[in-house]
Amino acid sequence: MNRYKNFGISDKVADLANEVQKEIKLVFEKIEEVCEYNSLKVLKAFQNNQISDMHFNQTTGYGYGDIGRDTTEKVFAEVLGAEDALVRGQFISGTHALTVALFAFLRPGDTLLSITGKPYDTLDEVIGIVDNPSSLKSFGVNFEKIDLVNDEFDYQAIEDRLKQGKVKLIEIQRSKGYSTRKSITIDELEKVIEHIRKFDKEVIIMIDNCYCEFVTTKEPLEVGADVIVGSLIKNLGGGIAPNGAYIAGRKDLVNLAAERLTAPGEGKEVGPSLGITKSILQGLFMAPSVVASSLKTAVFASRILEKLGYDVEPKYNEQRADIVQTINFNDEQKLIKYCQGIQMGSPIDSNSIPEPWDMPGYTDKVIMAAGAFTQGSSIELSCDGPIRPPYTAFMQGGLTYEYGKLGVLKAVQNMM
Ligand SMILES: *Cc1c(COP(=O)(O)O)cnc(C)c1O
Repeated sequence: MNRYKNFGISDKVADLANEVQKEIKLVFEKIEEVCEYNSLKVLKAFQNNQISDMHFNQTTGYGYGDIGRDTTEKVFAEVLGAEDALVRGQFISGTHALTVALFAFLRPGDTLLSITGKPYDTLDEVIGIVDNPSSLKSFGVNFEKIDLVNDEFDYQAIEDRLKQGKVKLIEIQRSKGYSTRKSITIDELEKVIEHIRKFDKEVIIMIDNCYCEFVTTKEPLEVGADVIVGSLIKNLGGGIAPNGAYIAGRKDLVNLAAERLTAPGEGKEVGPSLGITKSILQGLFMAPSVVASSLKTAVFASRILEKLGYDVEPKYNEQRADIVQTINFNDEQKLIKYCQGIQMGSPIDSNSIPEPWDMPGYTDKVIMAAGAFTQGSSIELSCDGPIRPPYTAFMQGGLTYEYGKLGVLKAVQNMM
């Protein structure tokens, strides 16, 4: 029986979905184990910090003495294995938090080195890869990069560069962004950090951790990174945080970041929570399960599209580093139809039809599907793709697996 019939799903797609559901059972079991482990981590952090009703109160104005905000930051620090954390709604986005961190840690004449190739597109103008009068480059900060080779770190090039002279900060972006490389697993990260430390004990190792939190049982600070940055409208916000981002890690670095976000001399002491603390804490509480749902949605999509003959990354049973699933359609129309189908399967704006569009910062047109409660939230089911060969869809999110699966079914049906 086709129980998706009144959702416009054909018998053929429904049969395929049932087959796939059986094949991915073992992968789901592993995801559930990780979810339980991370849930325990979160629960213990809540209990150790004695979270109570009073922490949901807000401050306004300067935000002095905001115990809800300060305790939330302690909870995040514990969960992430950090000495300290800055978790604020005053961060507009992940890009903003990365920008604050880079401007906080780097000084004129310093060198920023990315060892995962060119960083995420929105950092182009921040770094000065694309000219901007407010970029790091305009302040005299140098940028260098070492590309991945066959999706692996270039160990020799990293060694050579570190022996050659001072690098102030190494940036490692775990998730693939809009590239077709693989994302960086926690084991690969551990290995490269050990390698870096052989040649340089002081360089700041900063991780762009967007999309990677709670995908496995370990976070980057537990394998030697100094500081990590991520967005609350992705994994750790659990679909509930209304906005914000975090910077966590070494206490001195978090303090520098706080003094850049607010003002030198004020740092972490100011910044009113304005009533979002309860949502941030509840989001973190939900996050292990929401990340697990996103992973299950990705696994389901990976397997069903692989069976339909498309090139997918990662494969359904491969180890994952983030919640992103890519599908190469090798066909412009199929990419567009798939994204439009994701929109049709969304709870919000399901009747609008996304079209490819020129976006600031991108060379090609991009199609973006997002029917989200929170604007731009990509822990909610979302899918986008630059209109260029091999016509790759970048899909992520899913607040529950059931909704995620329905969205994928709608997209597959629309694409066929
Ligand atoms: C999402 C993301 C960012 C930050 O993006 P915002 O949309 O500004 O929050 C940075 N790096 C990576 C790898 C990302 O996935």
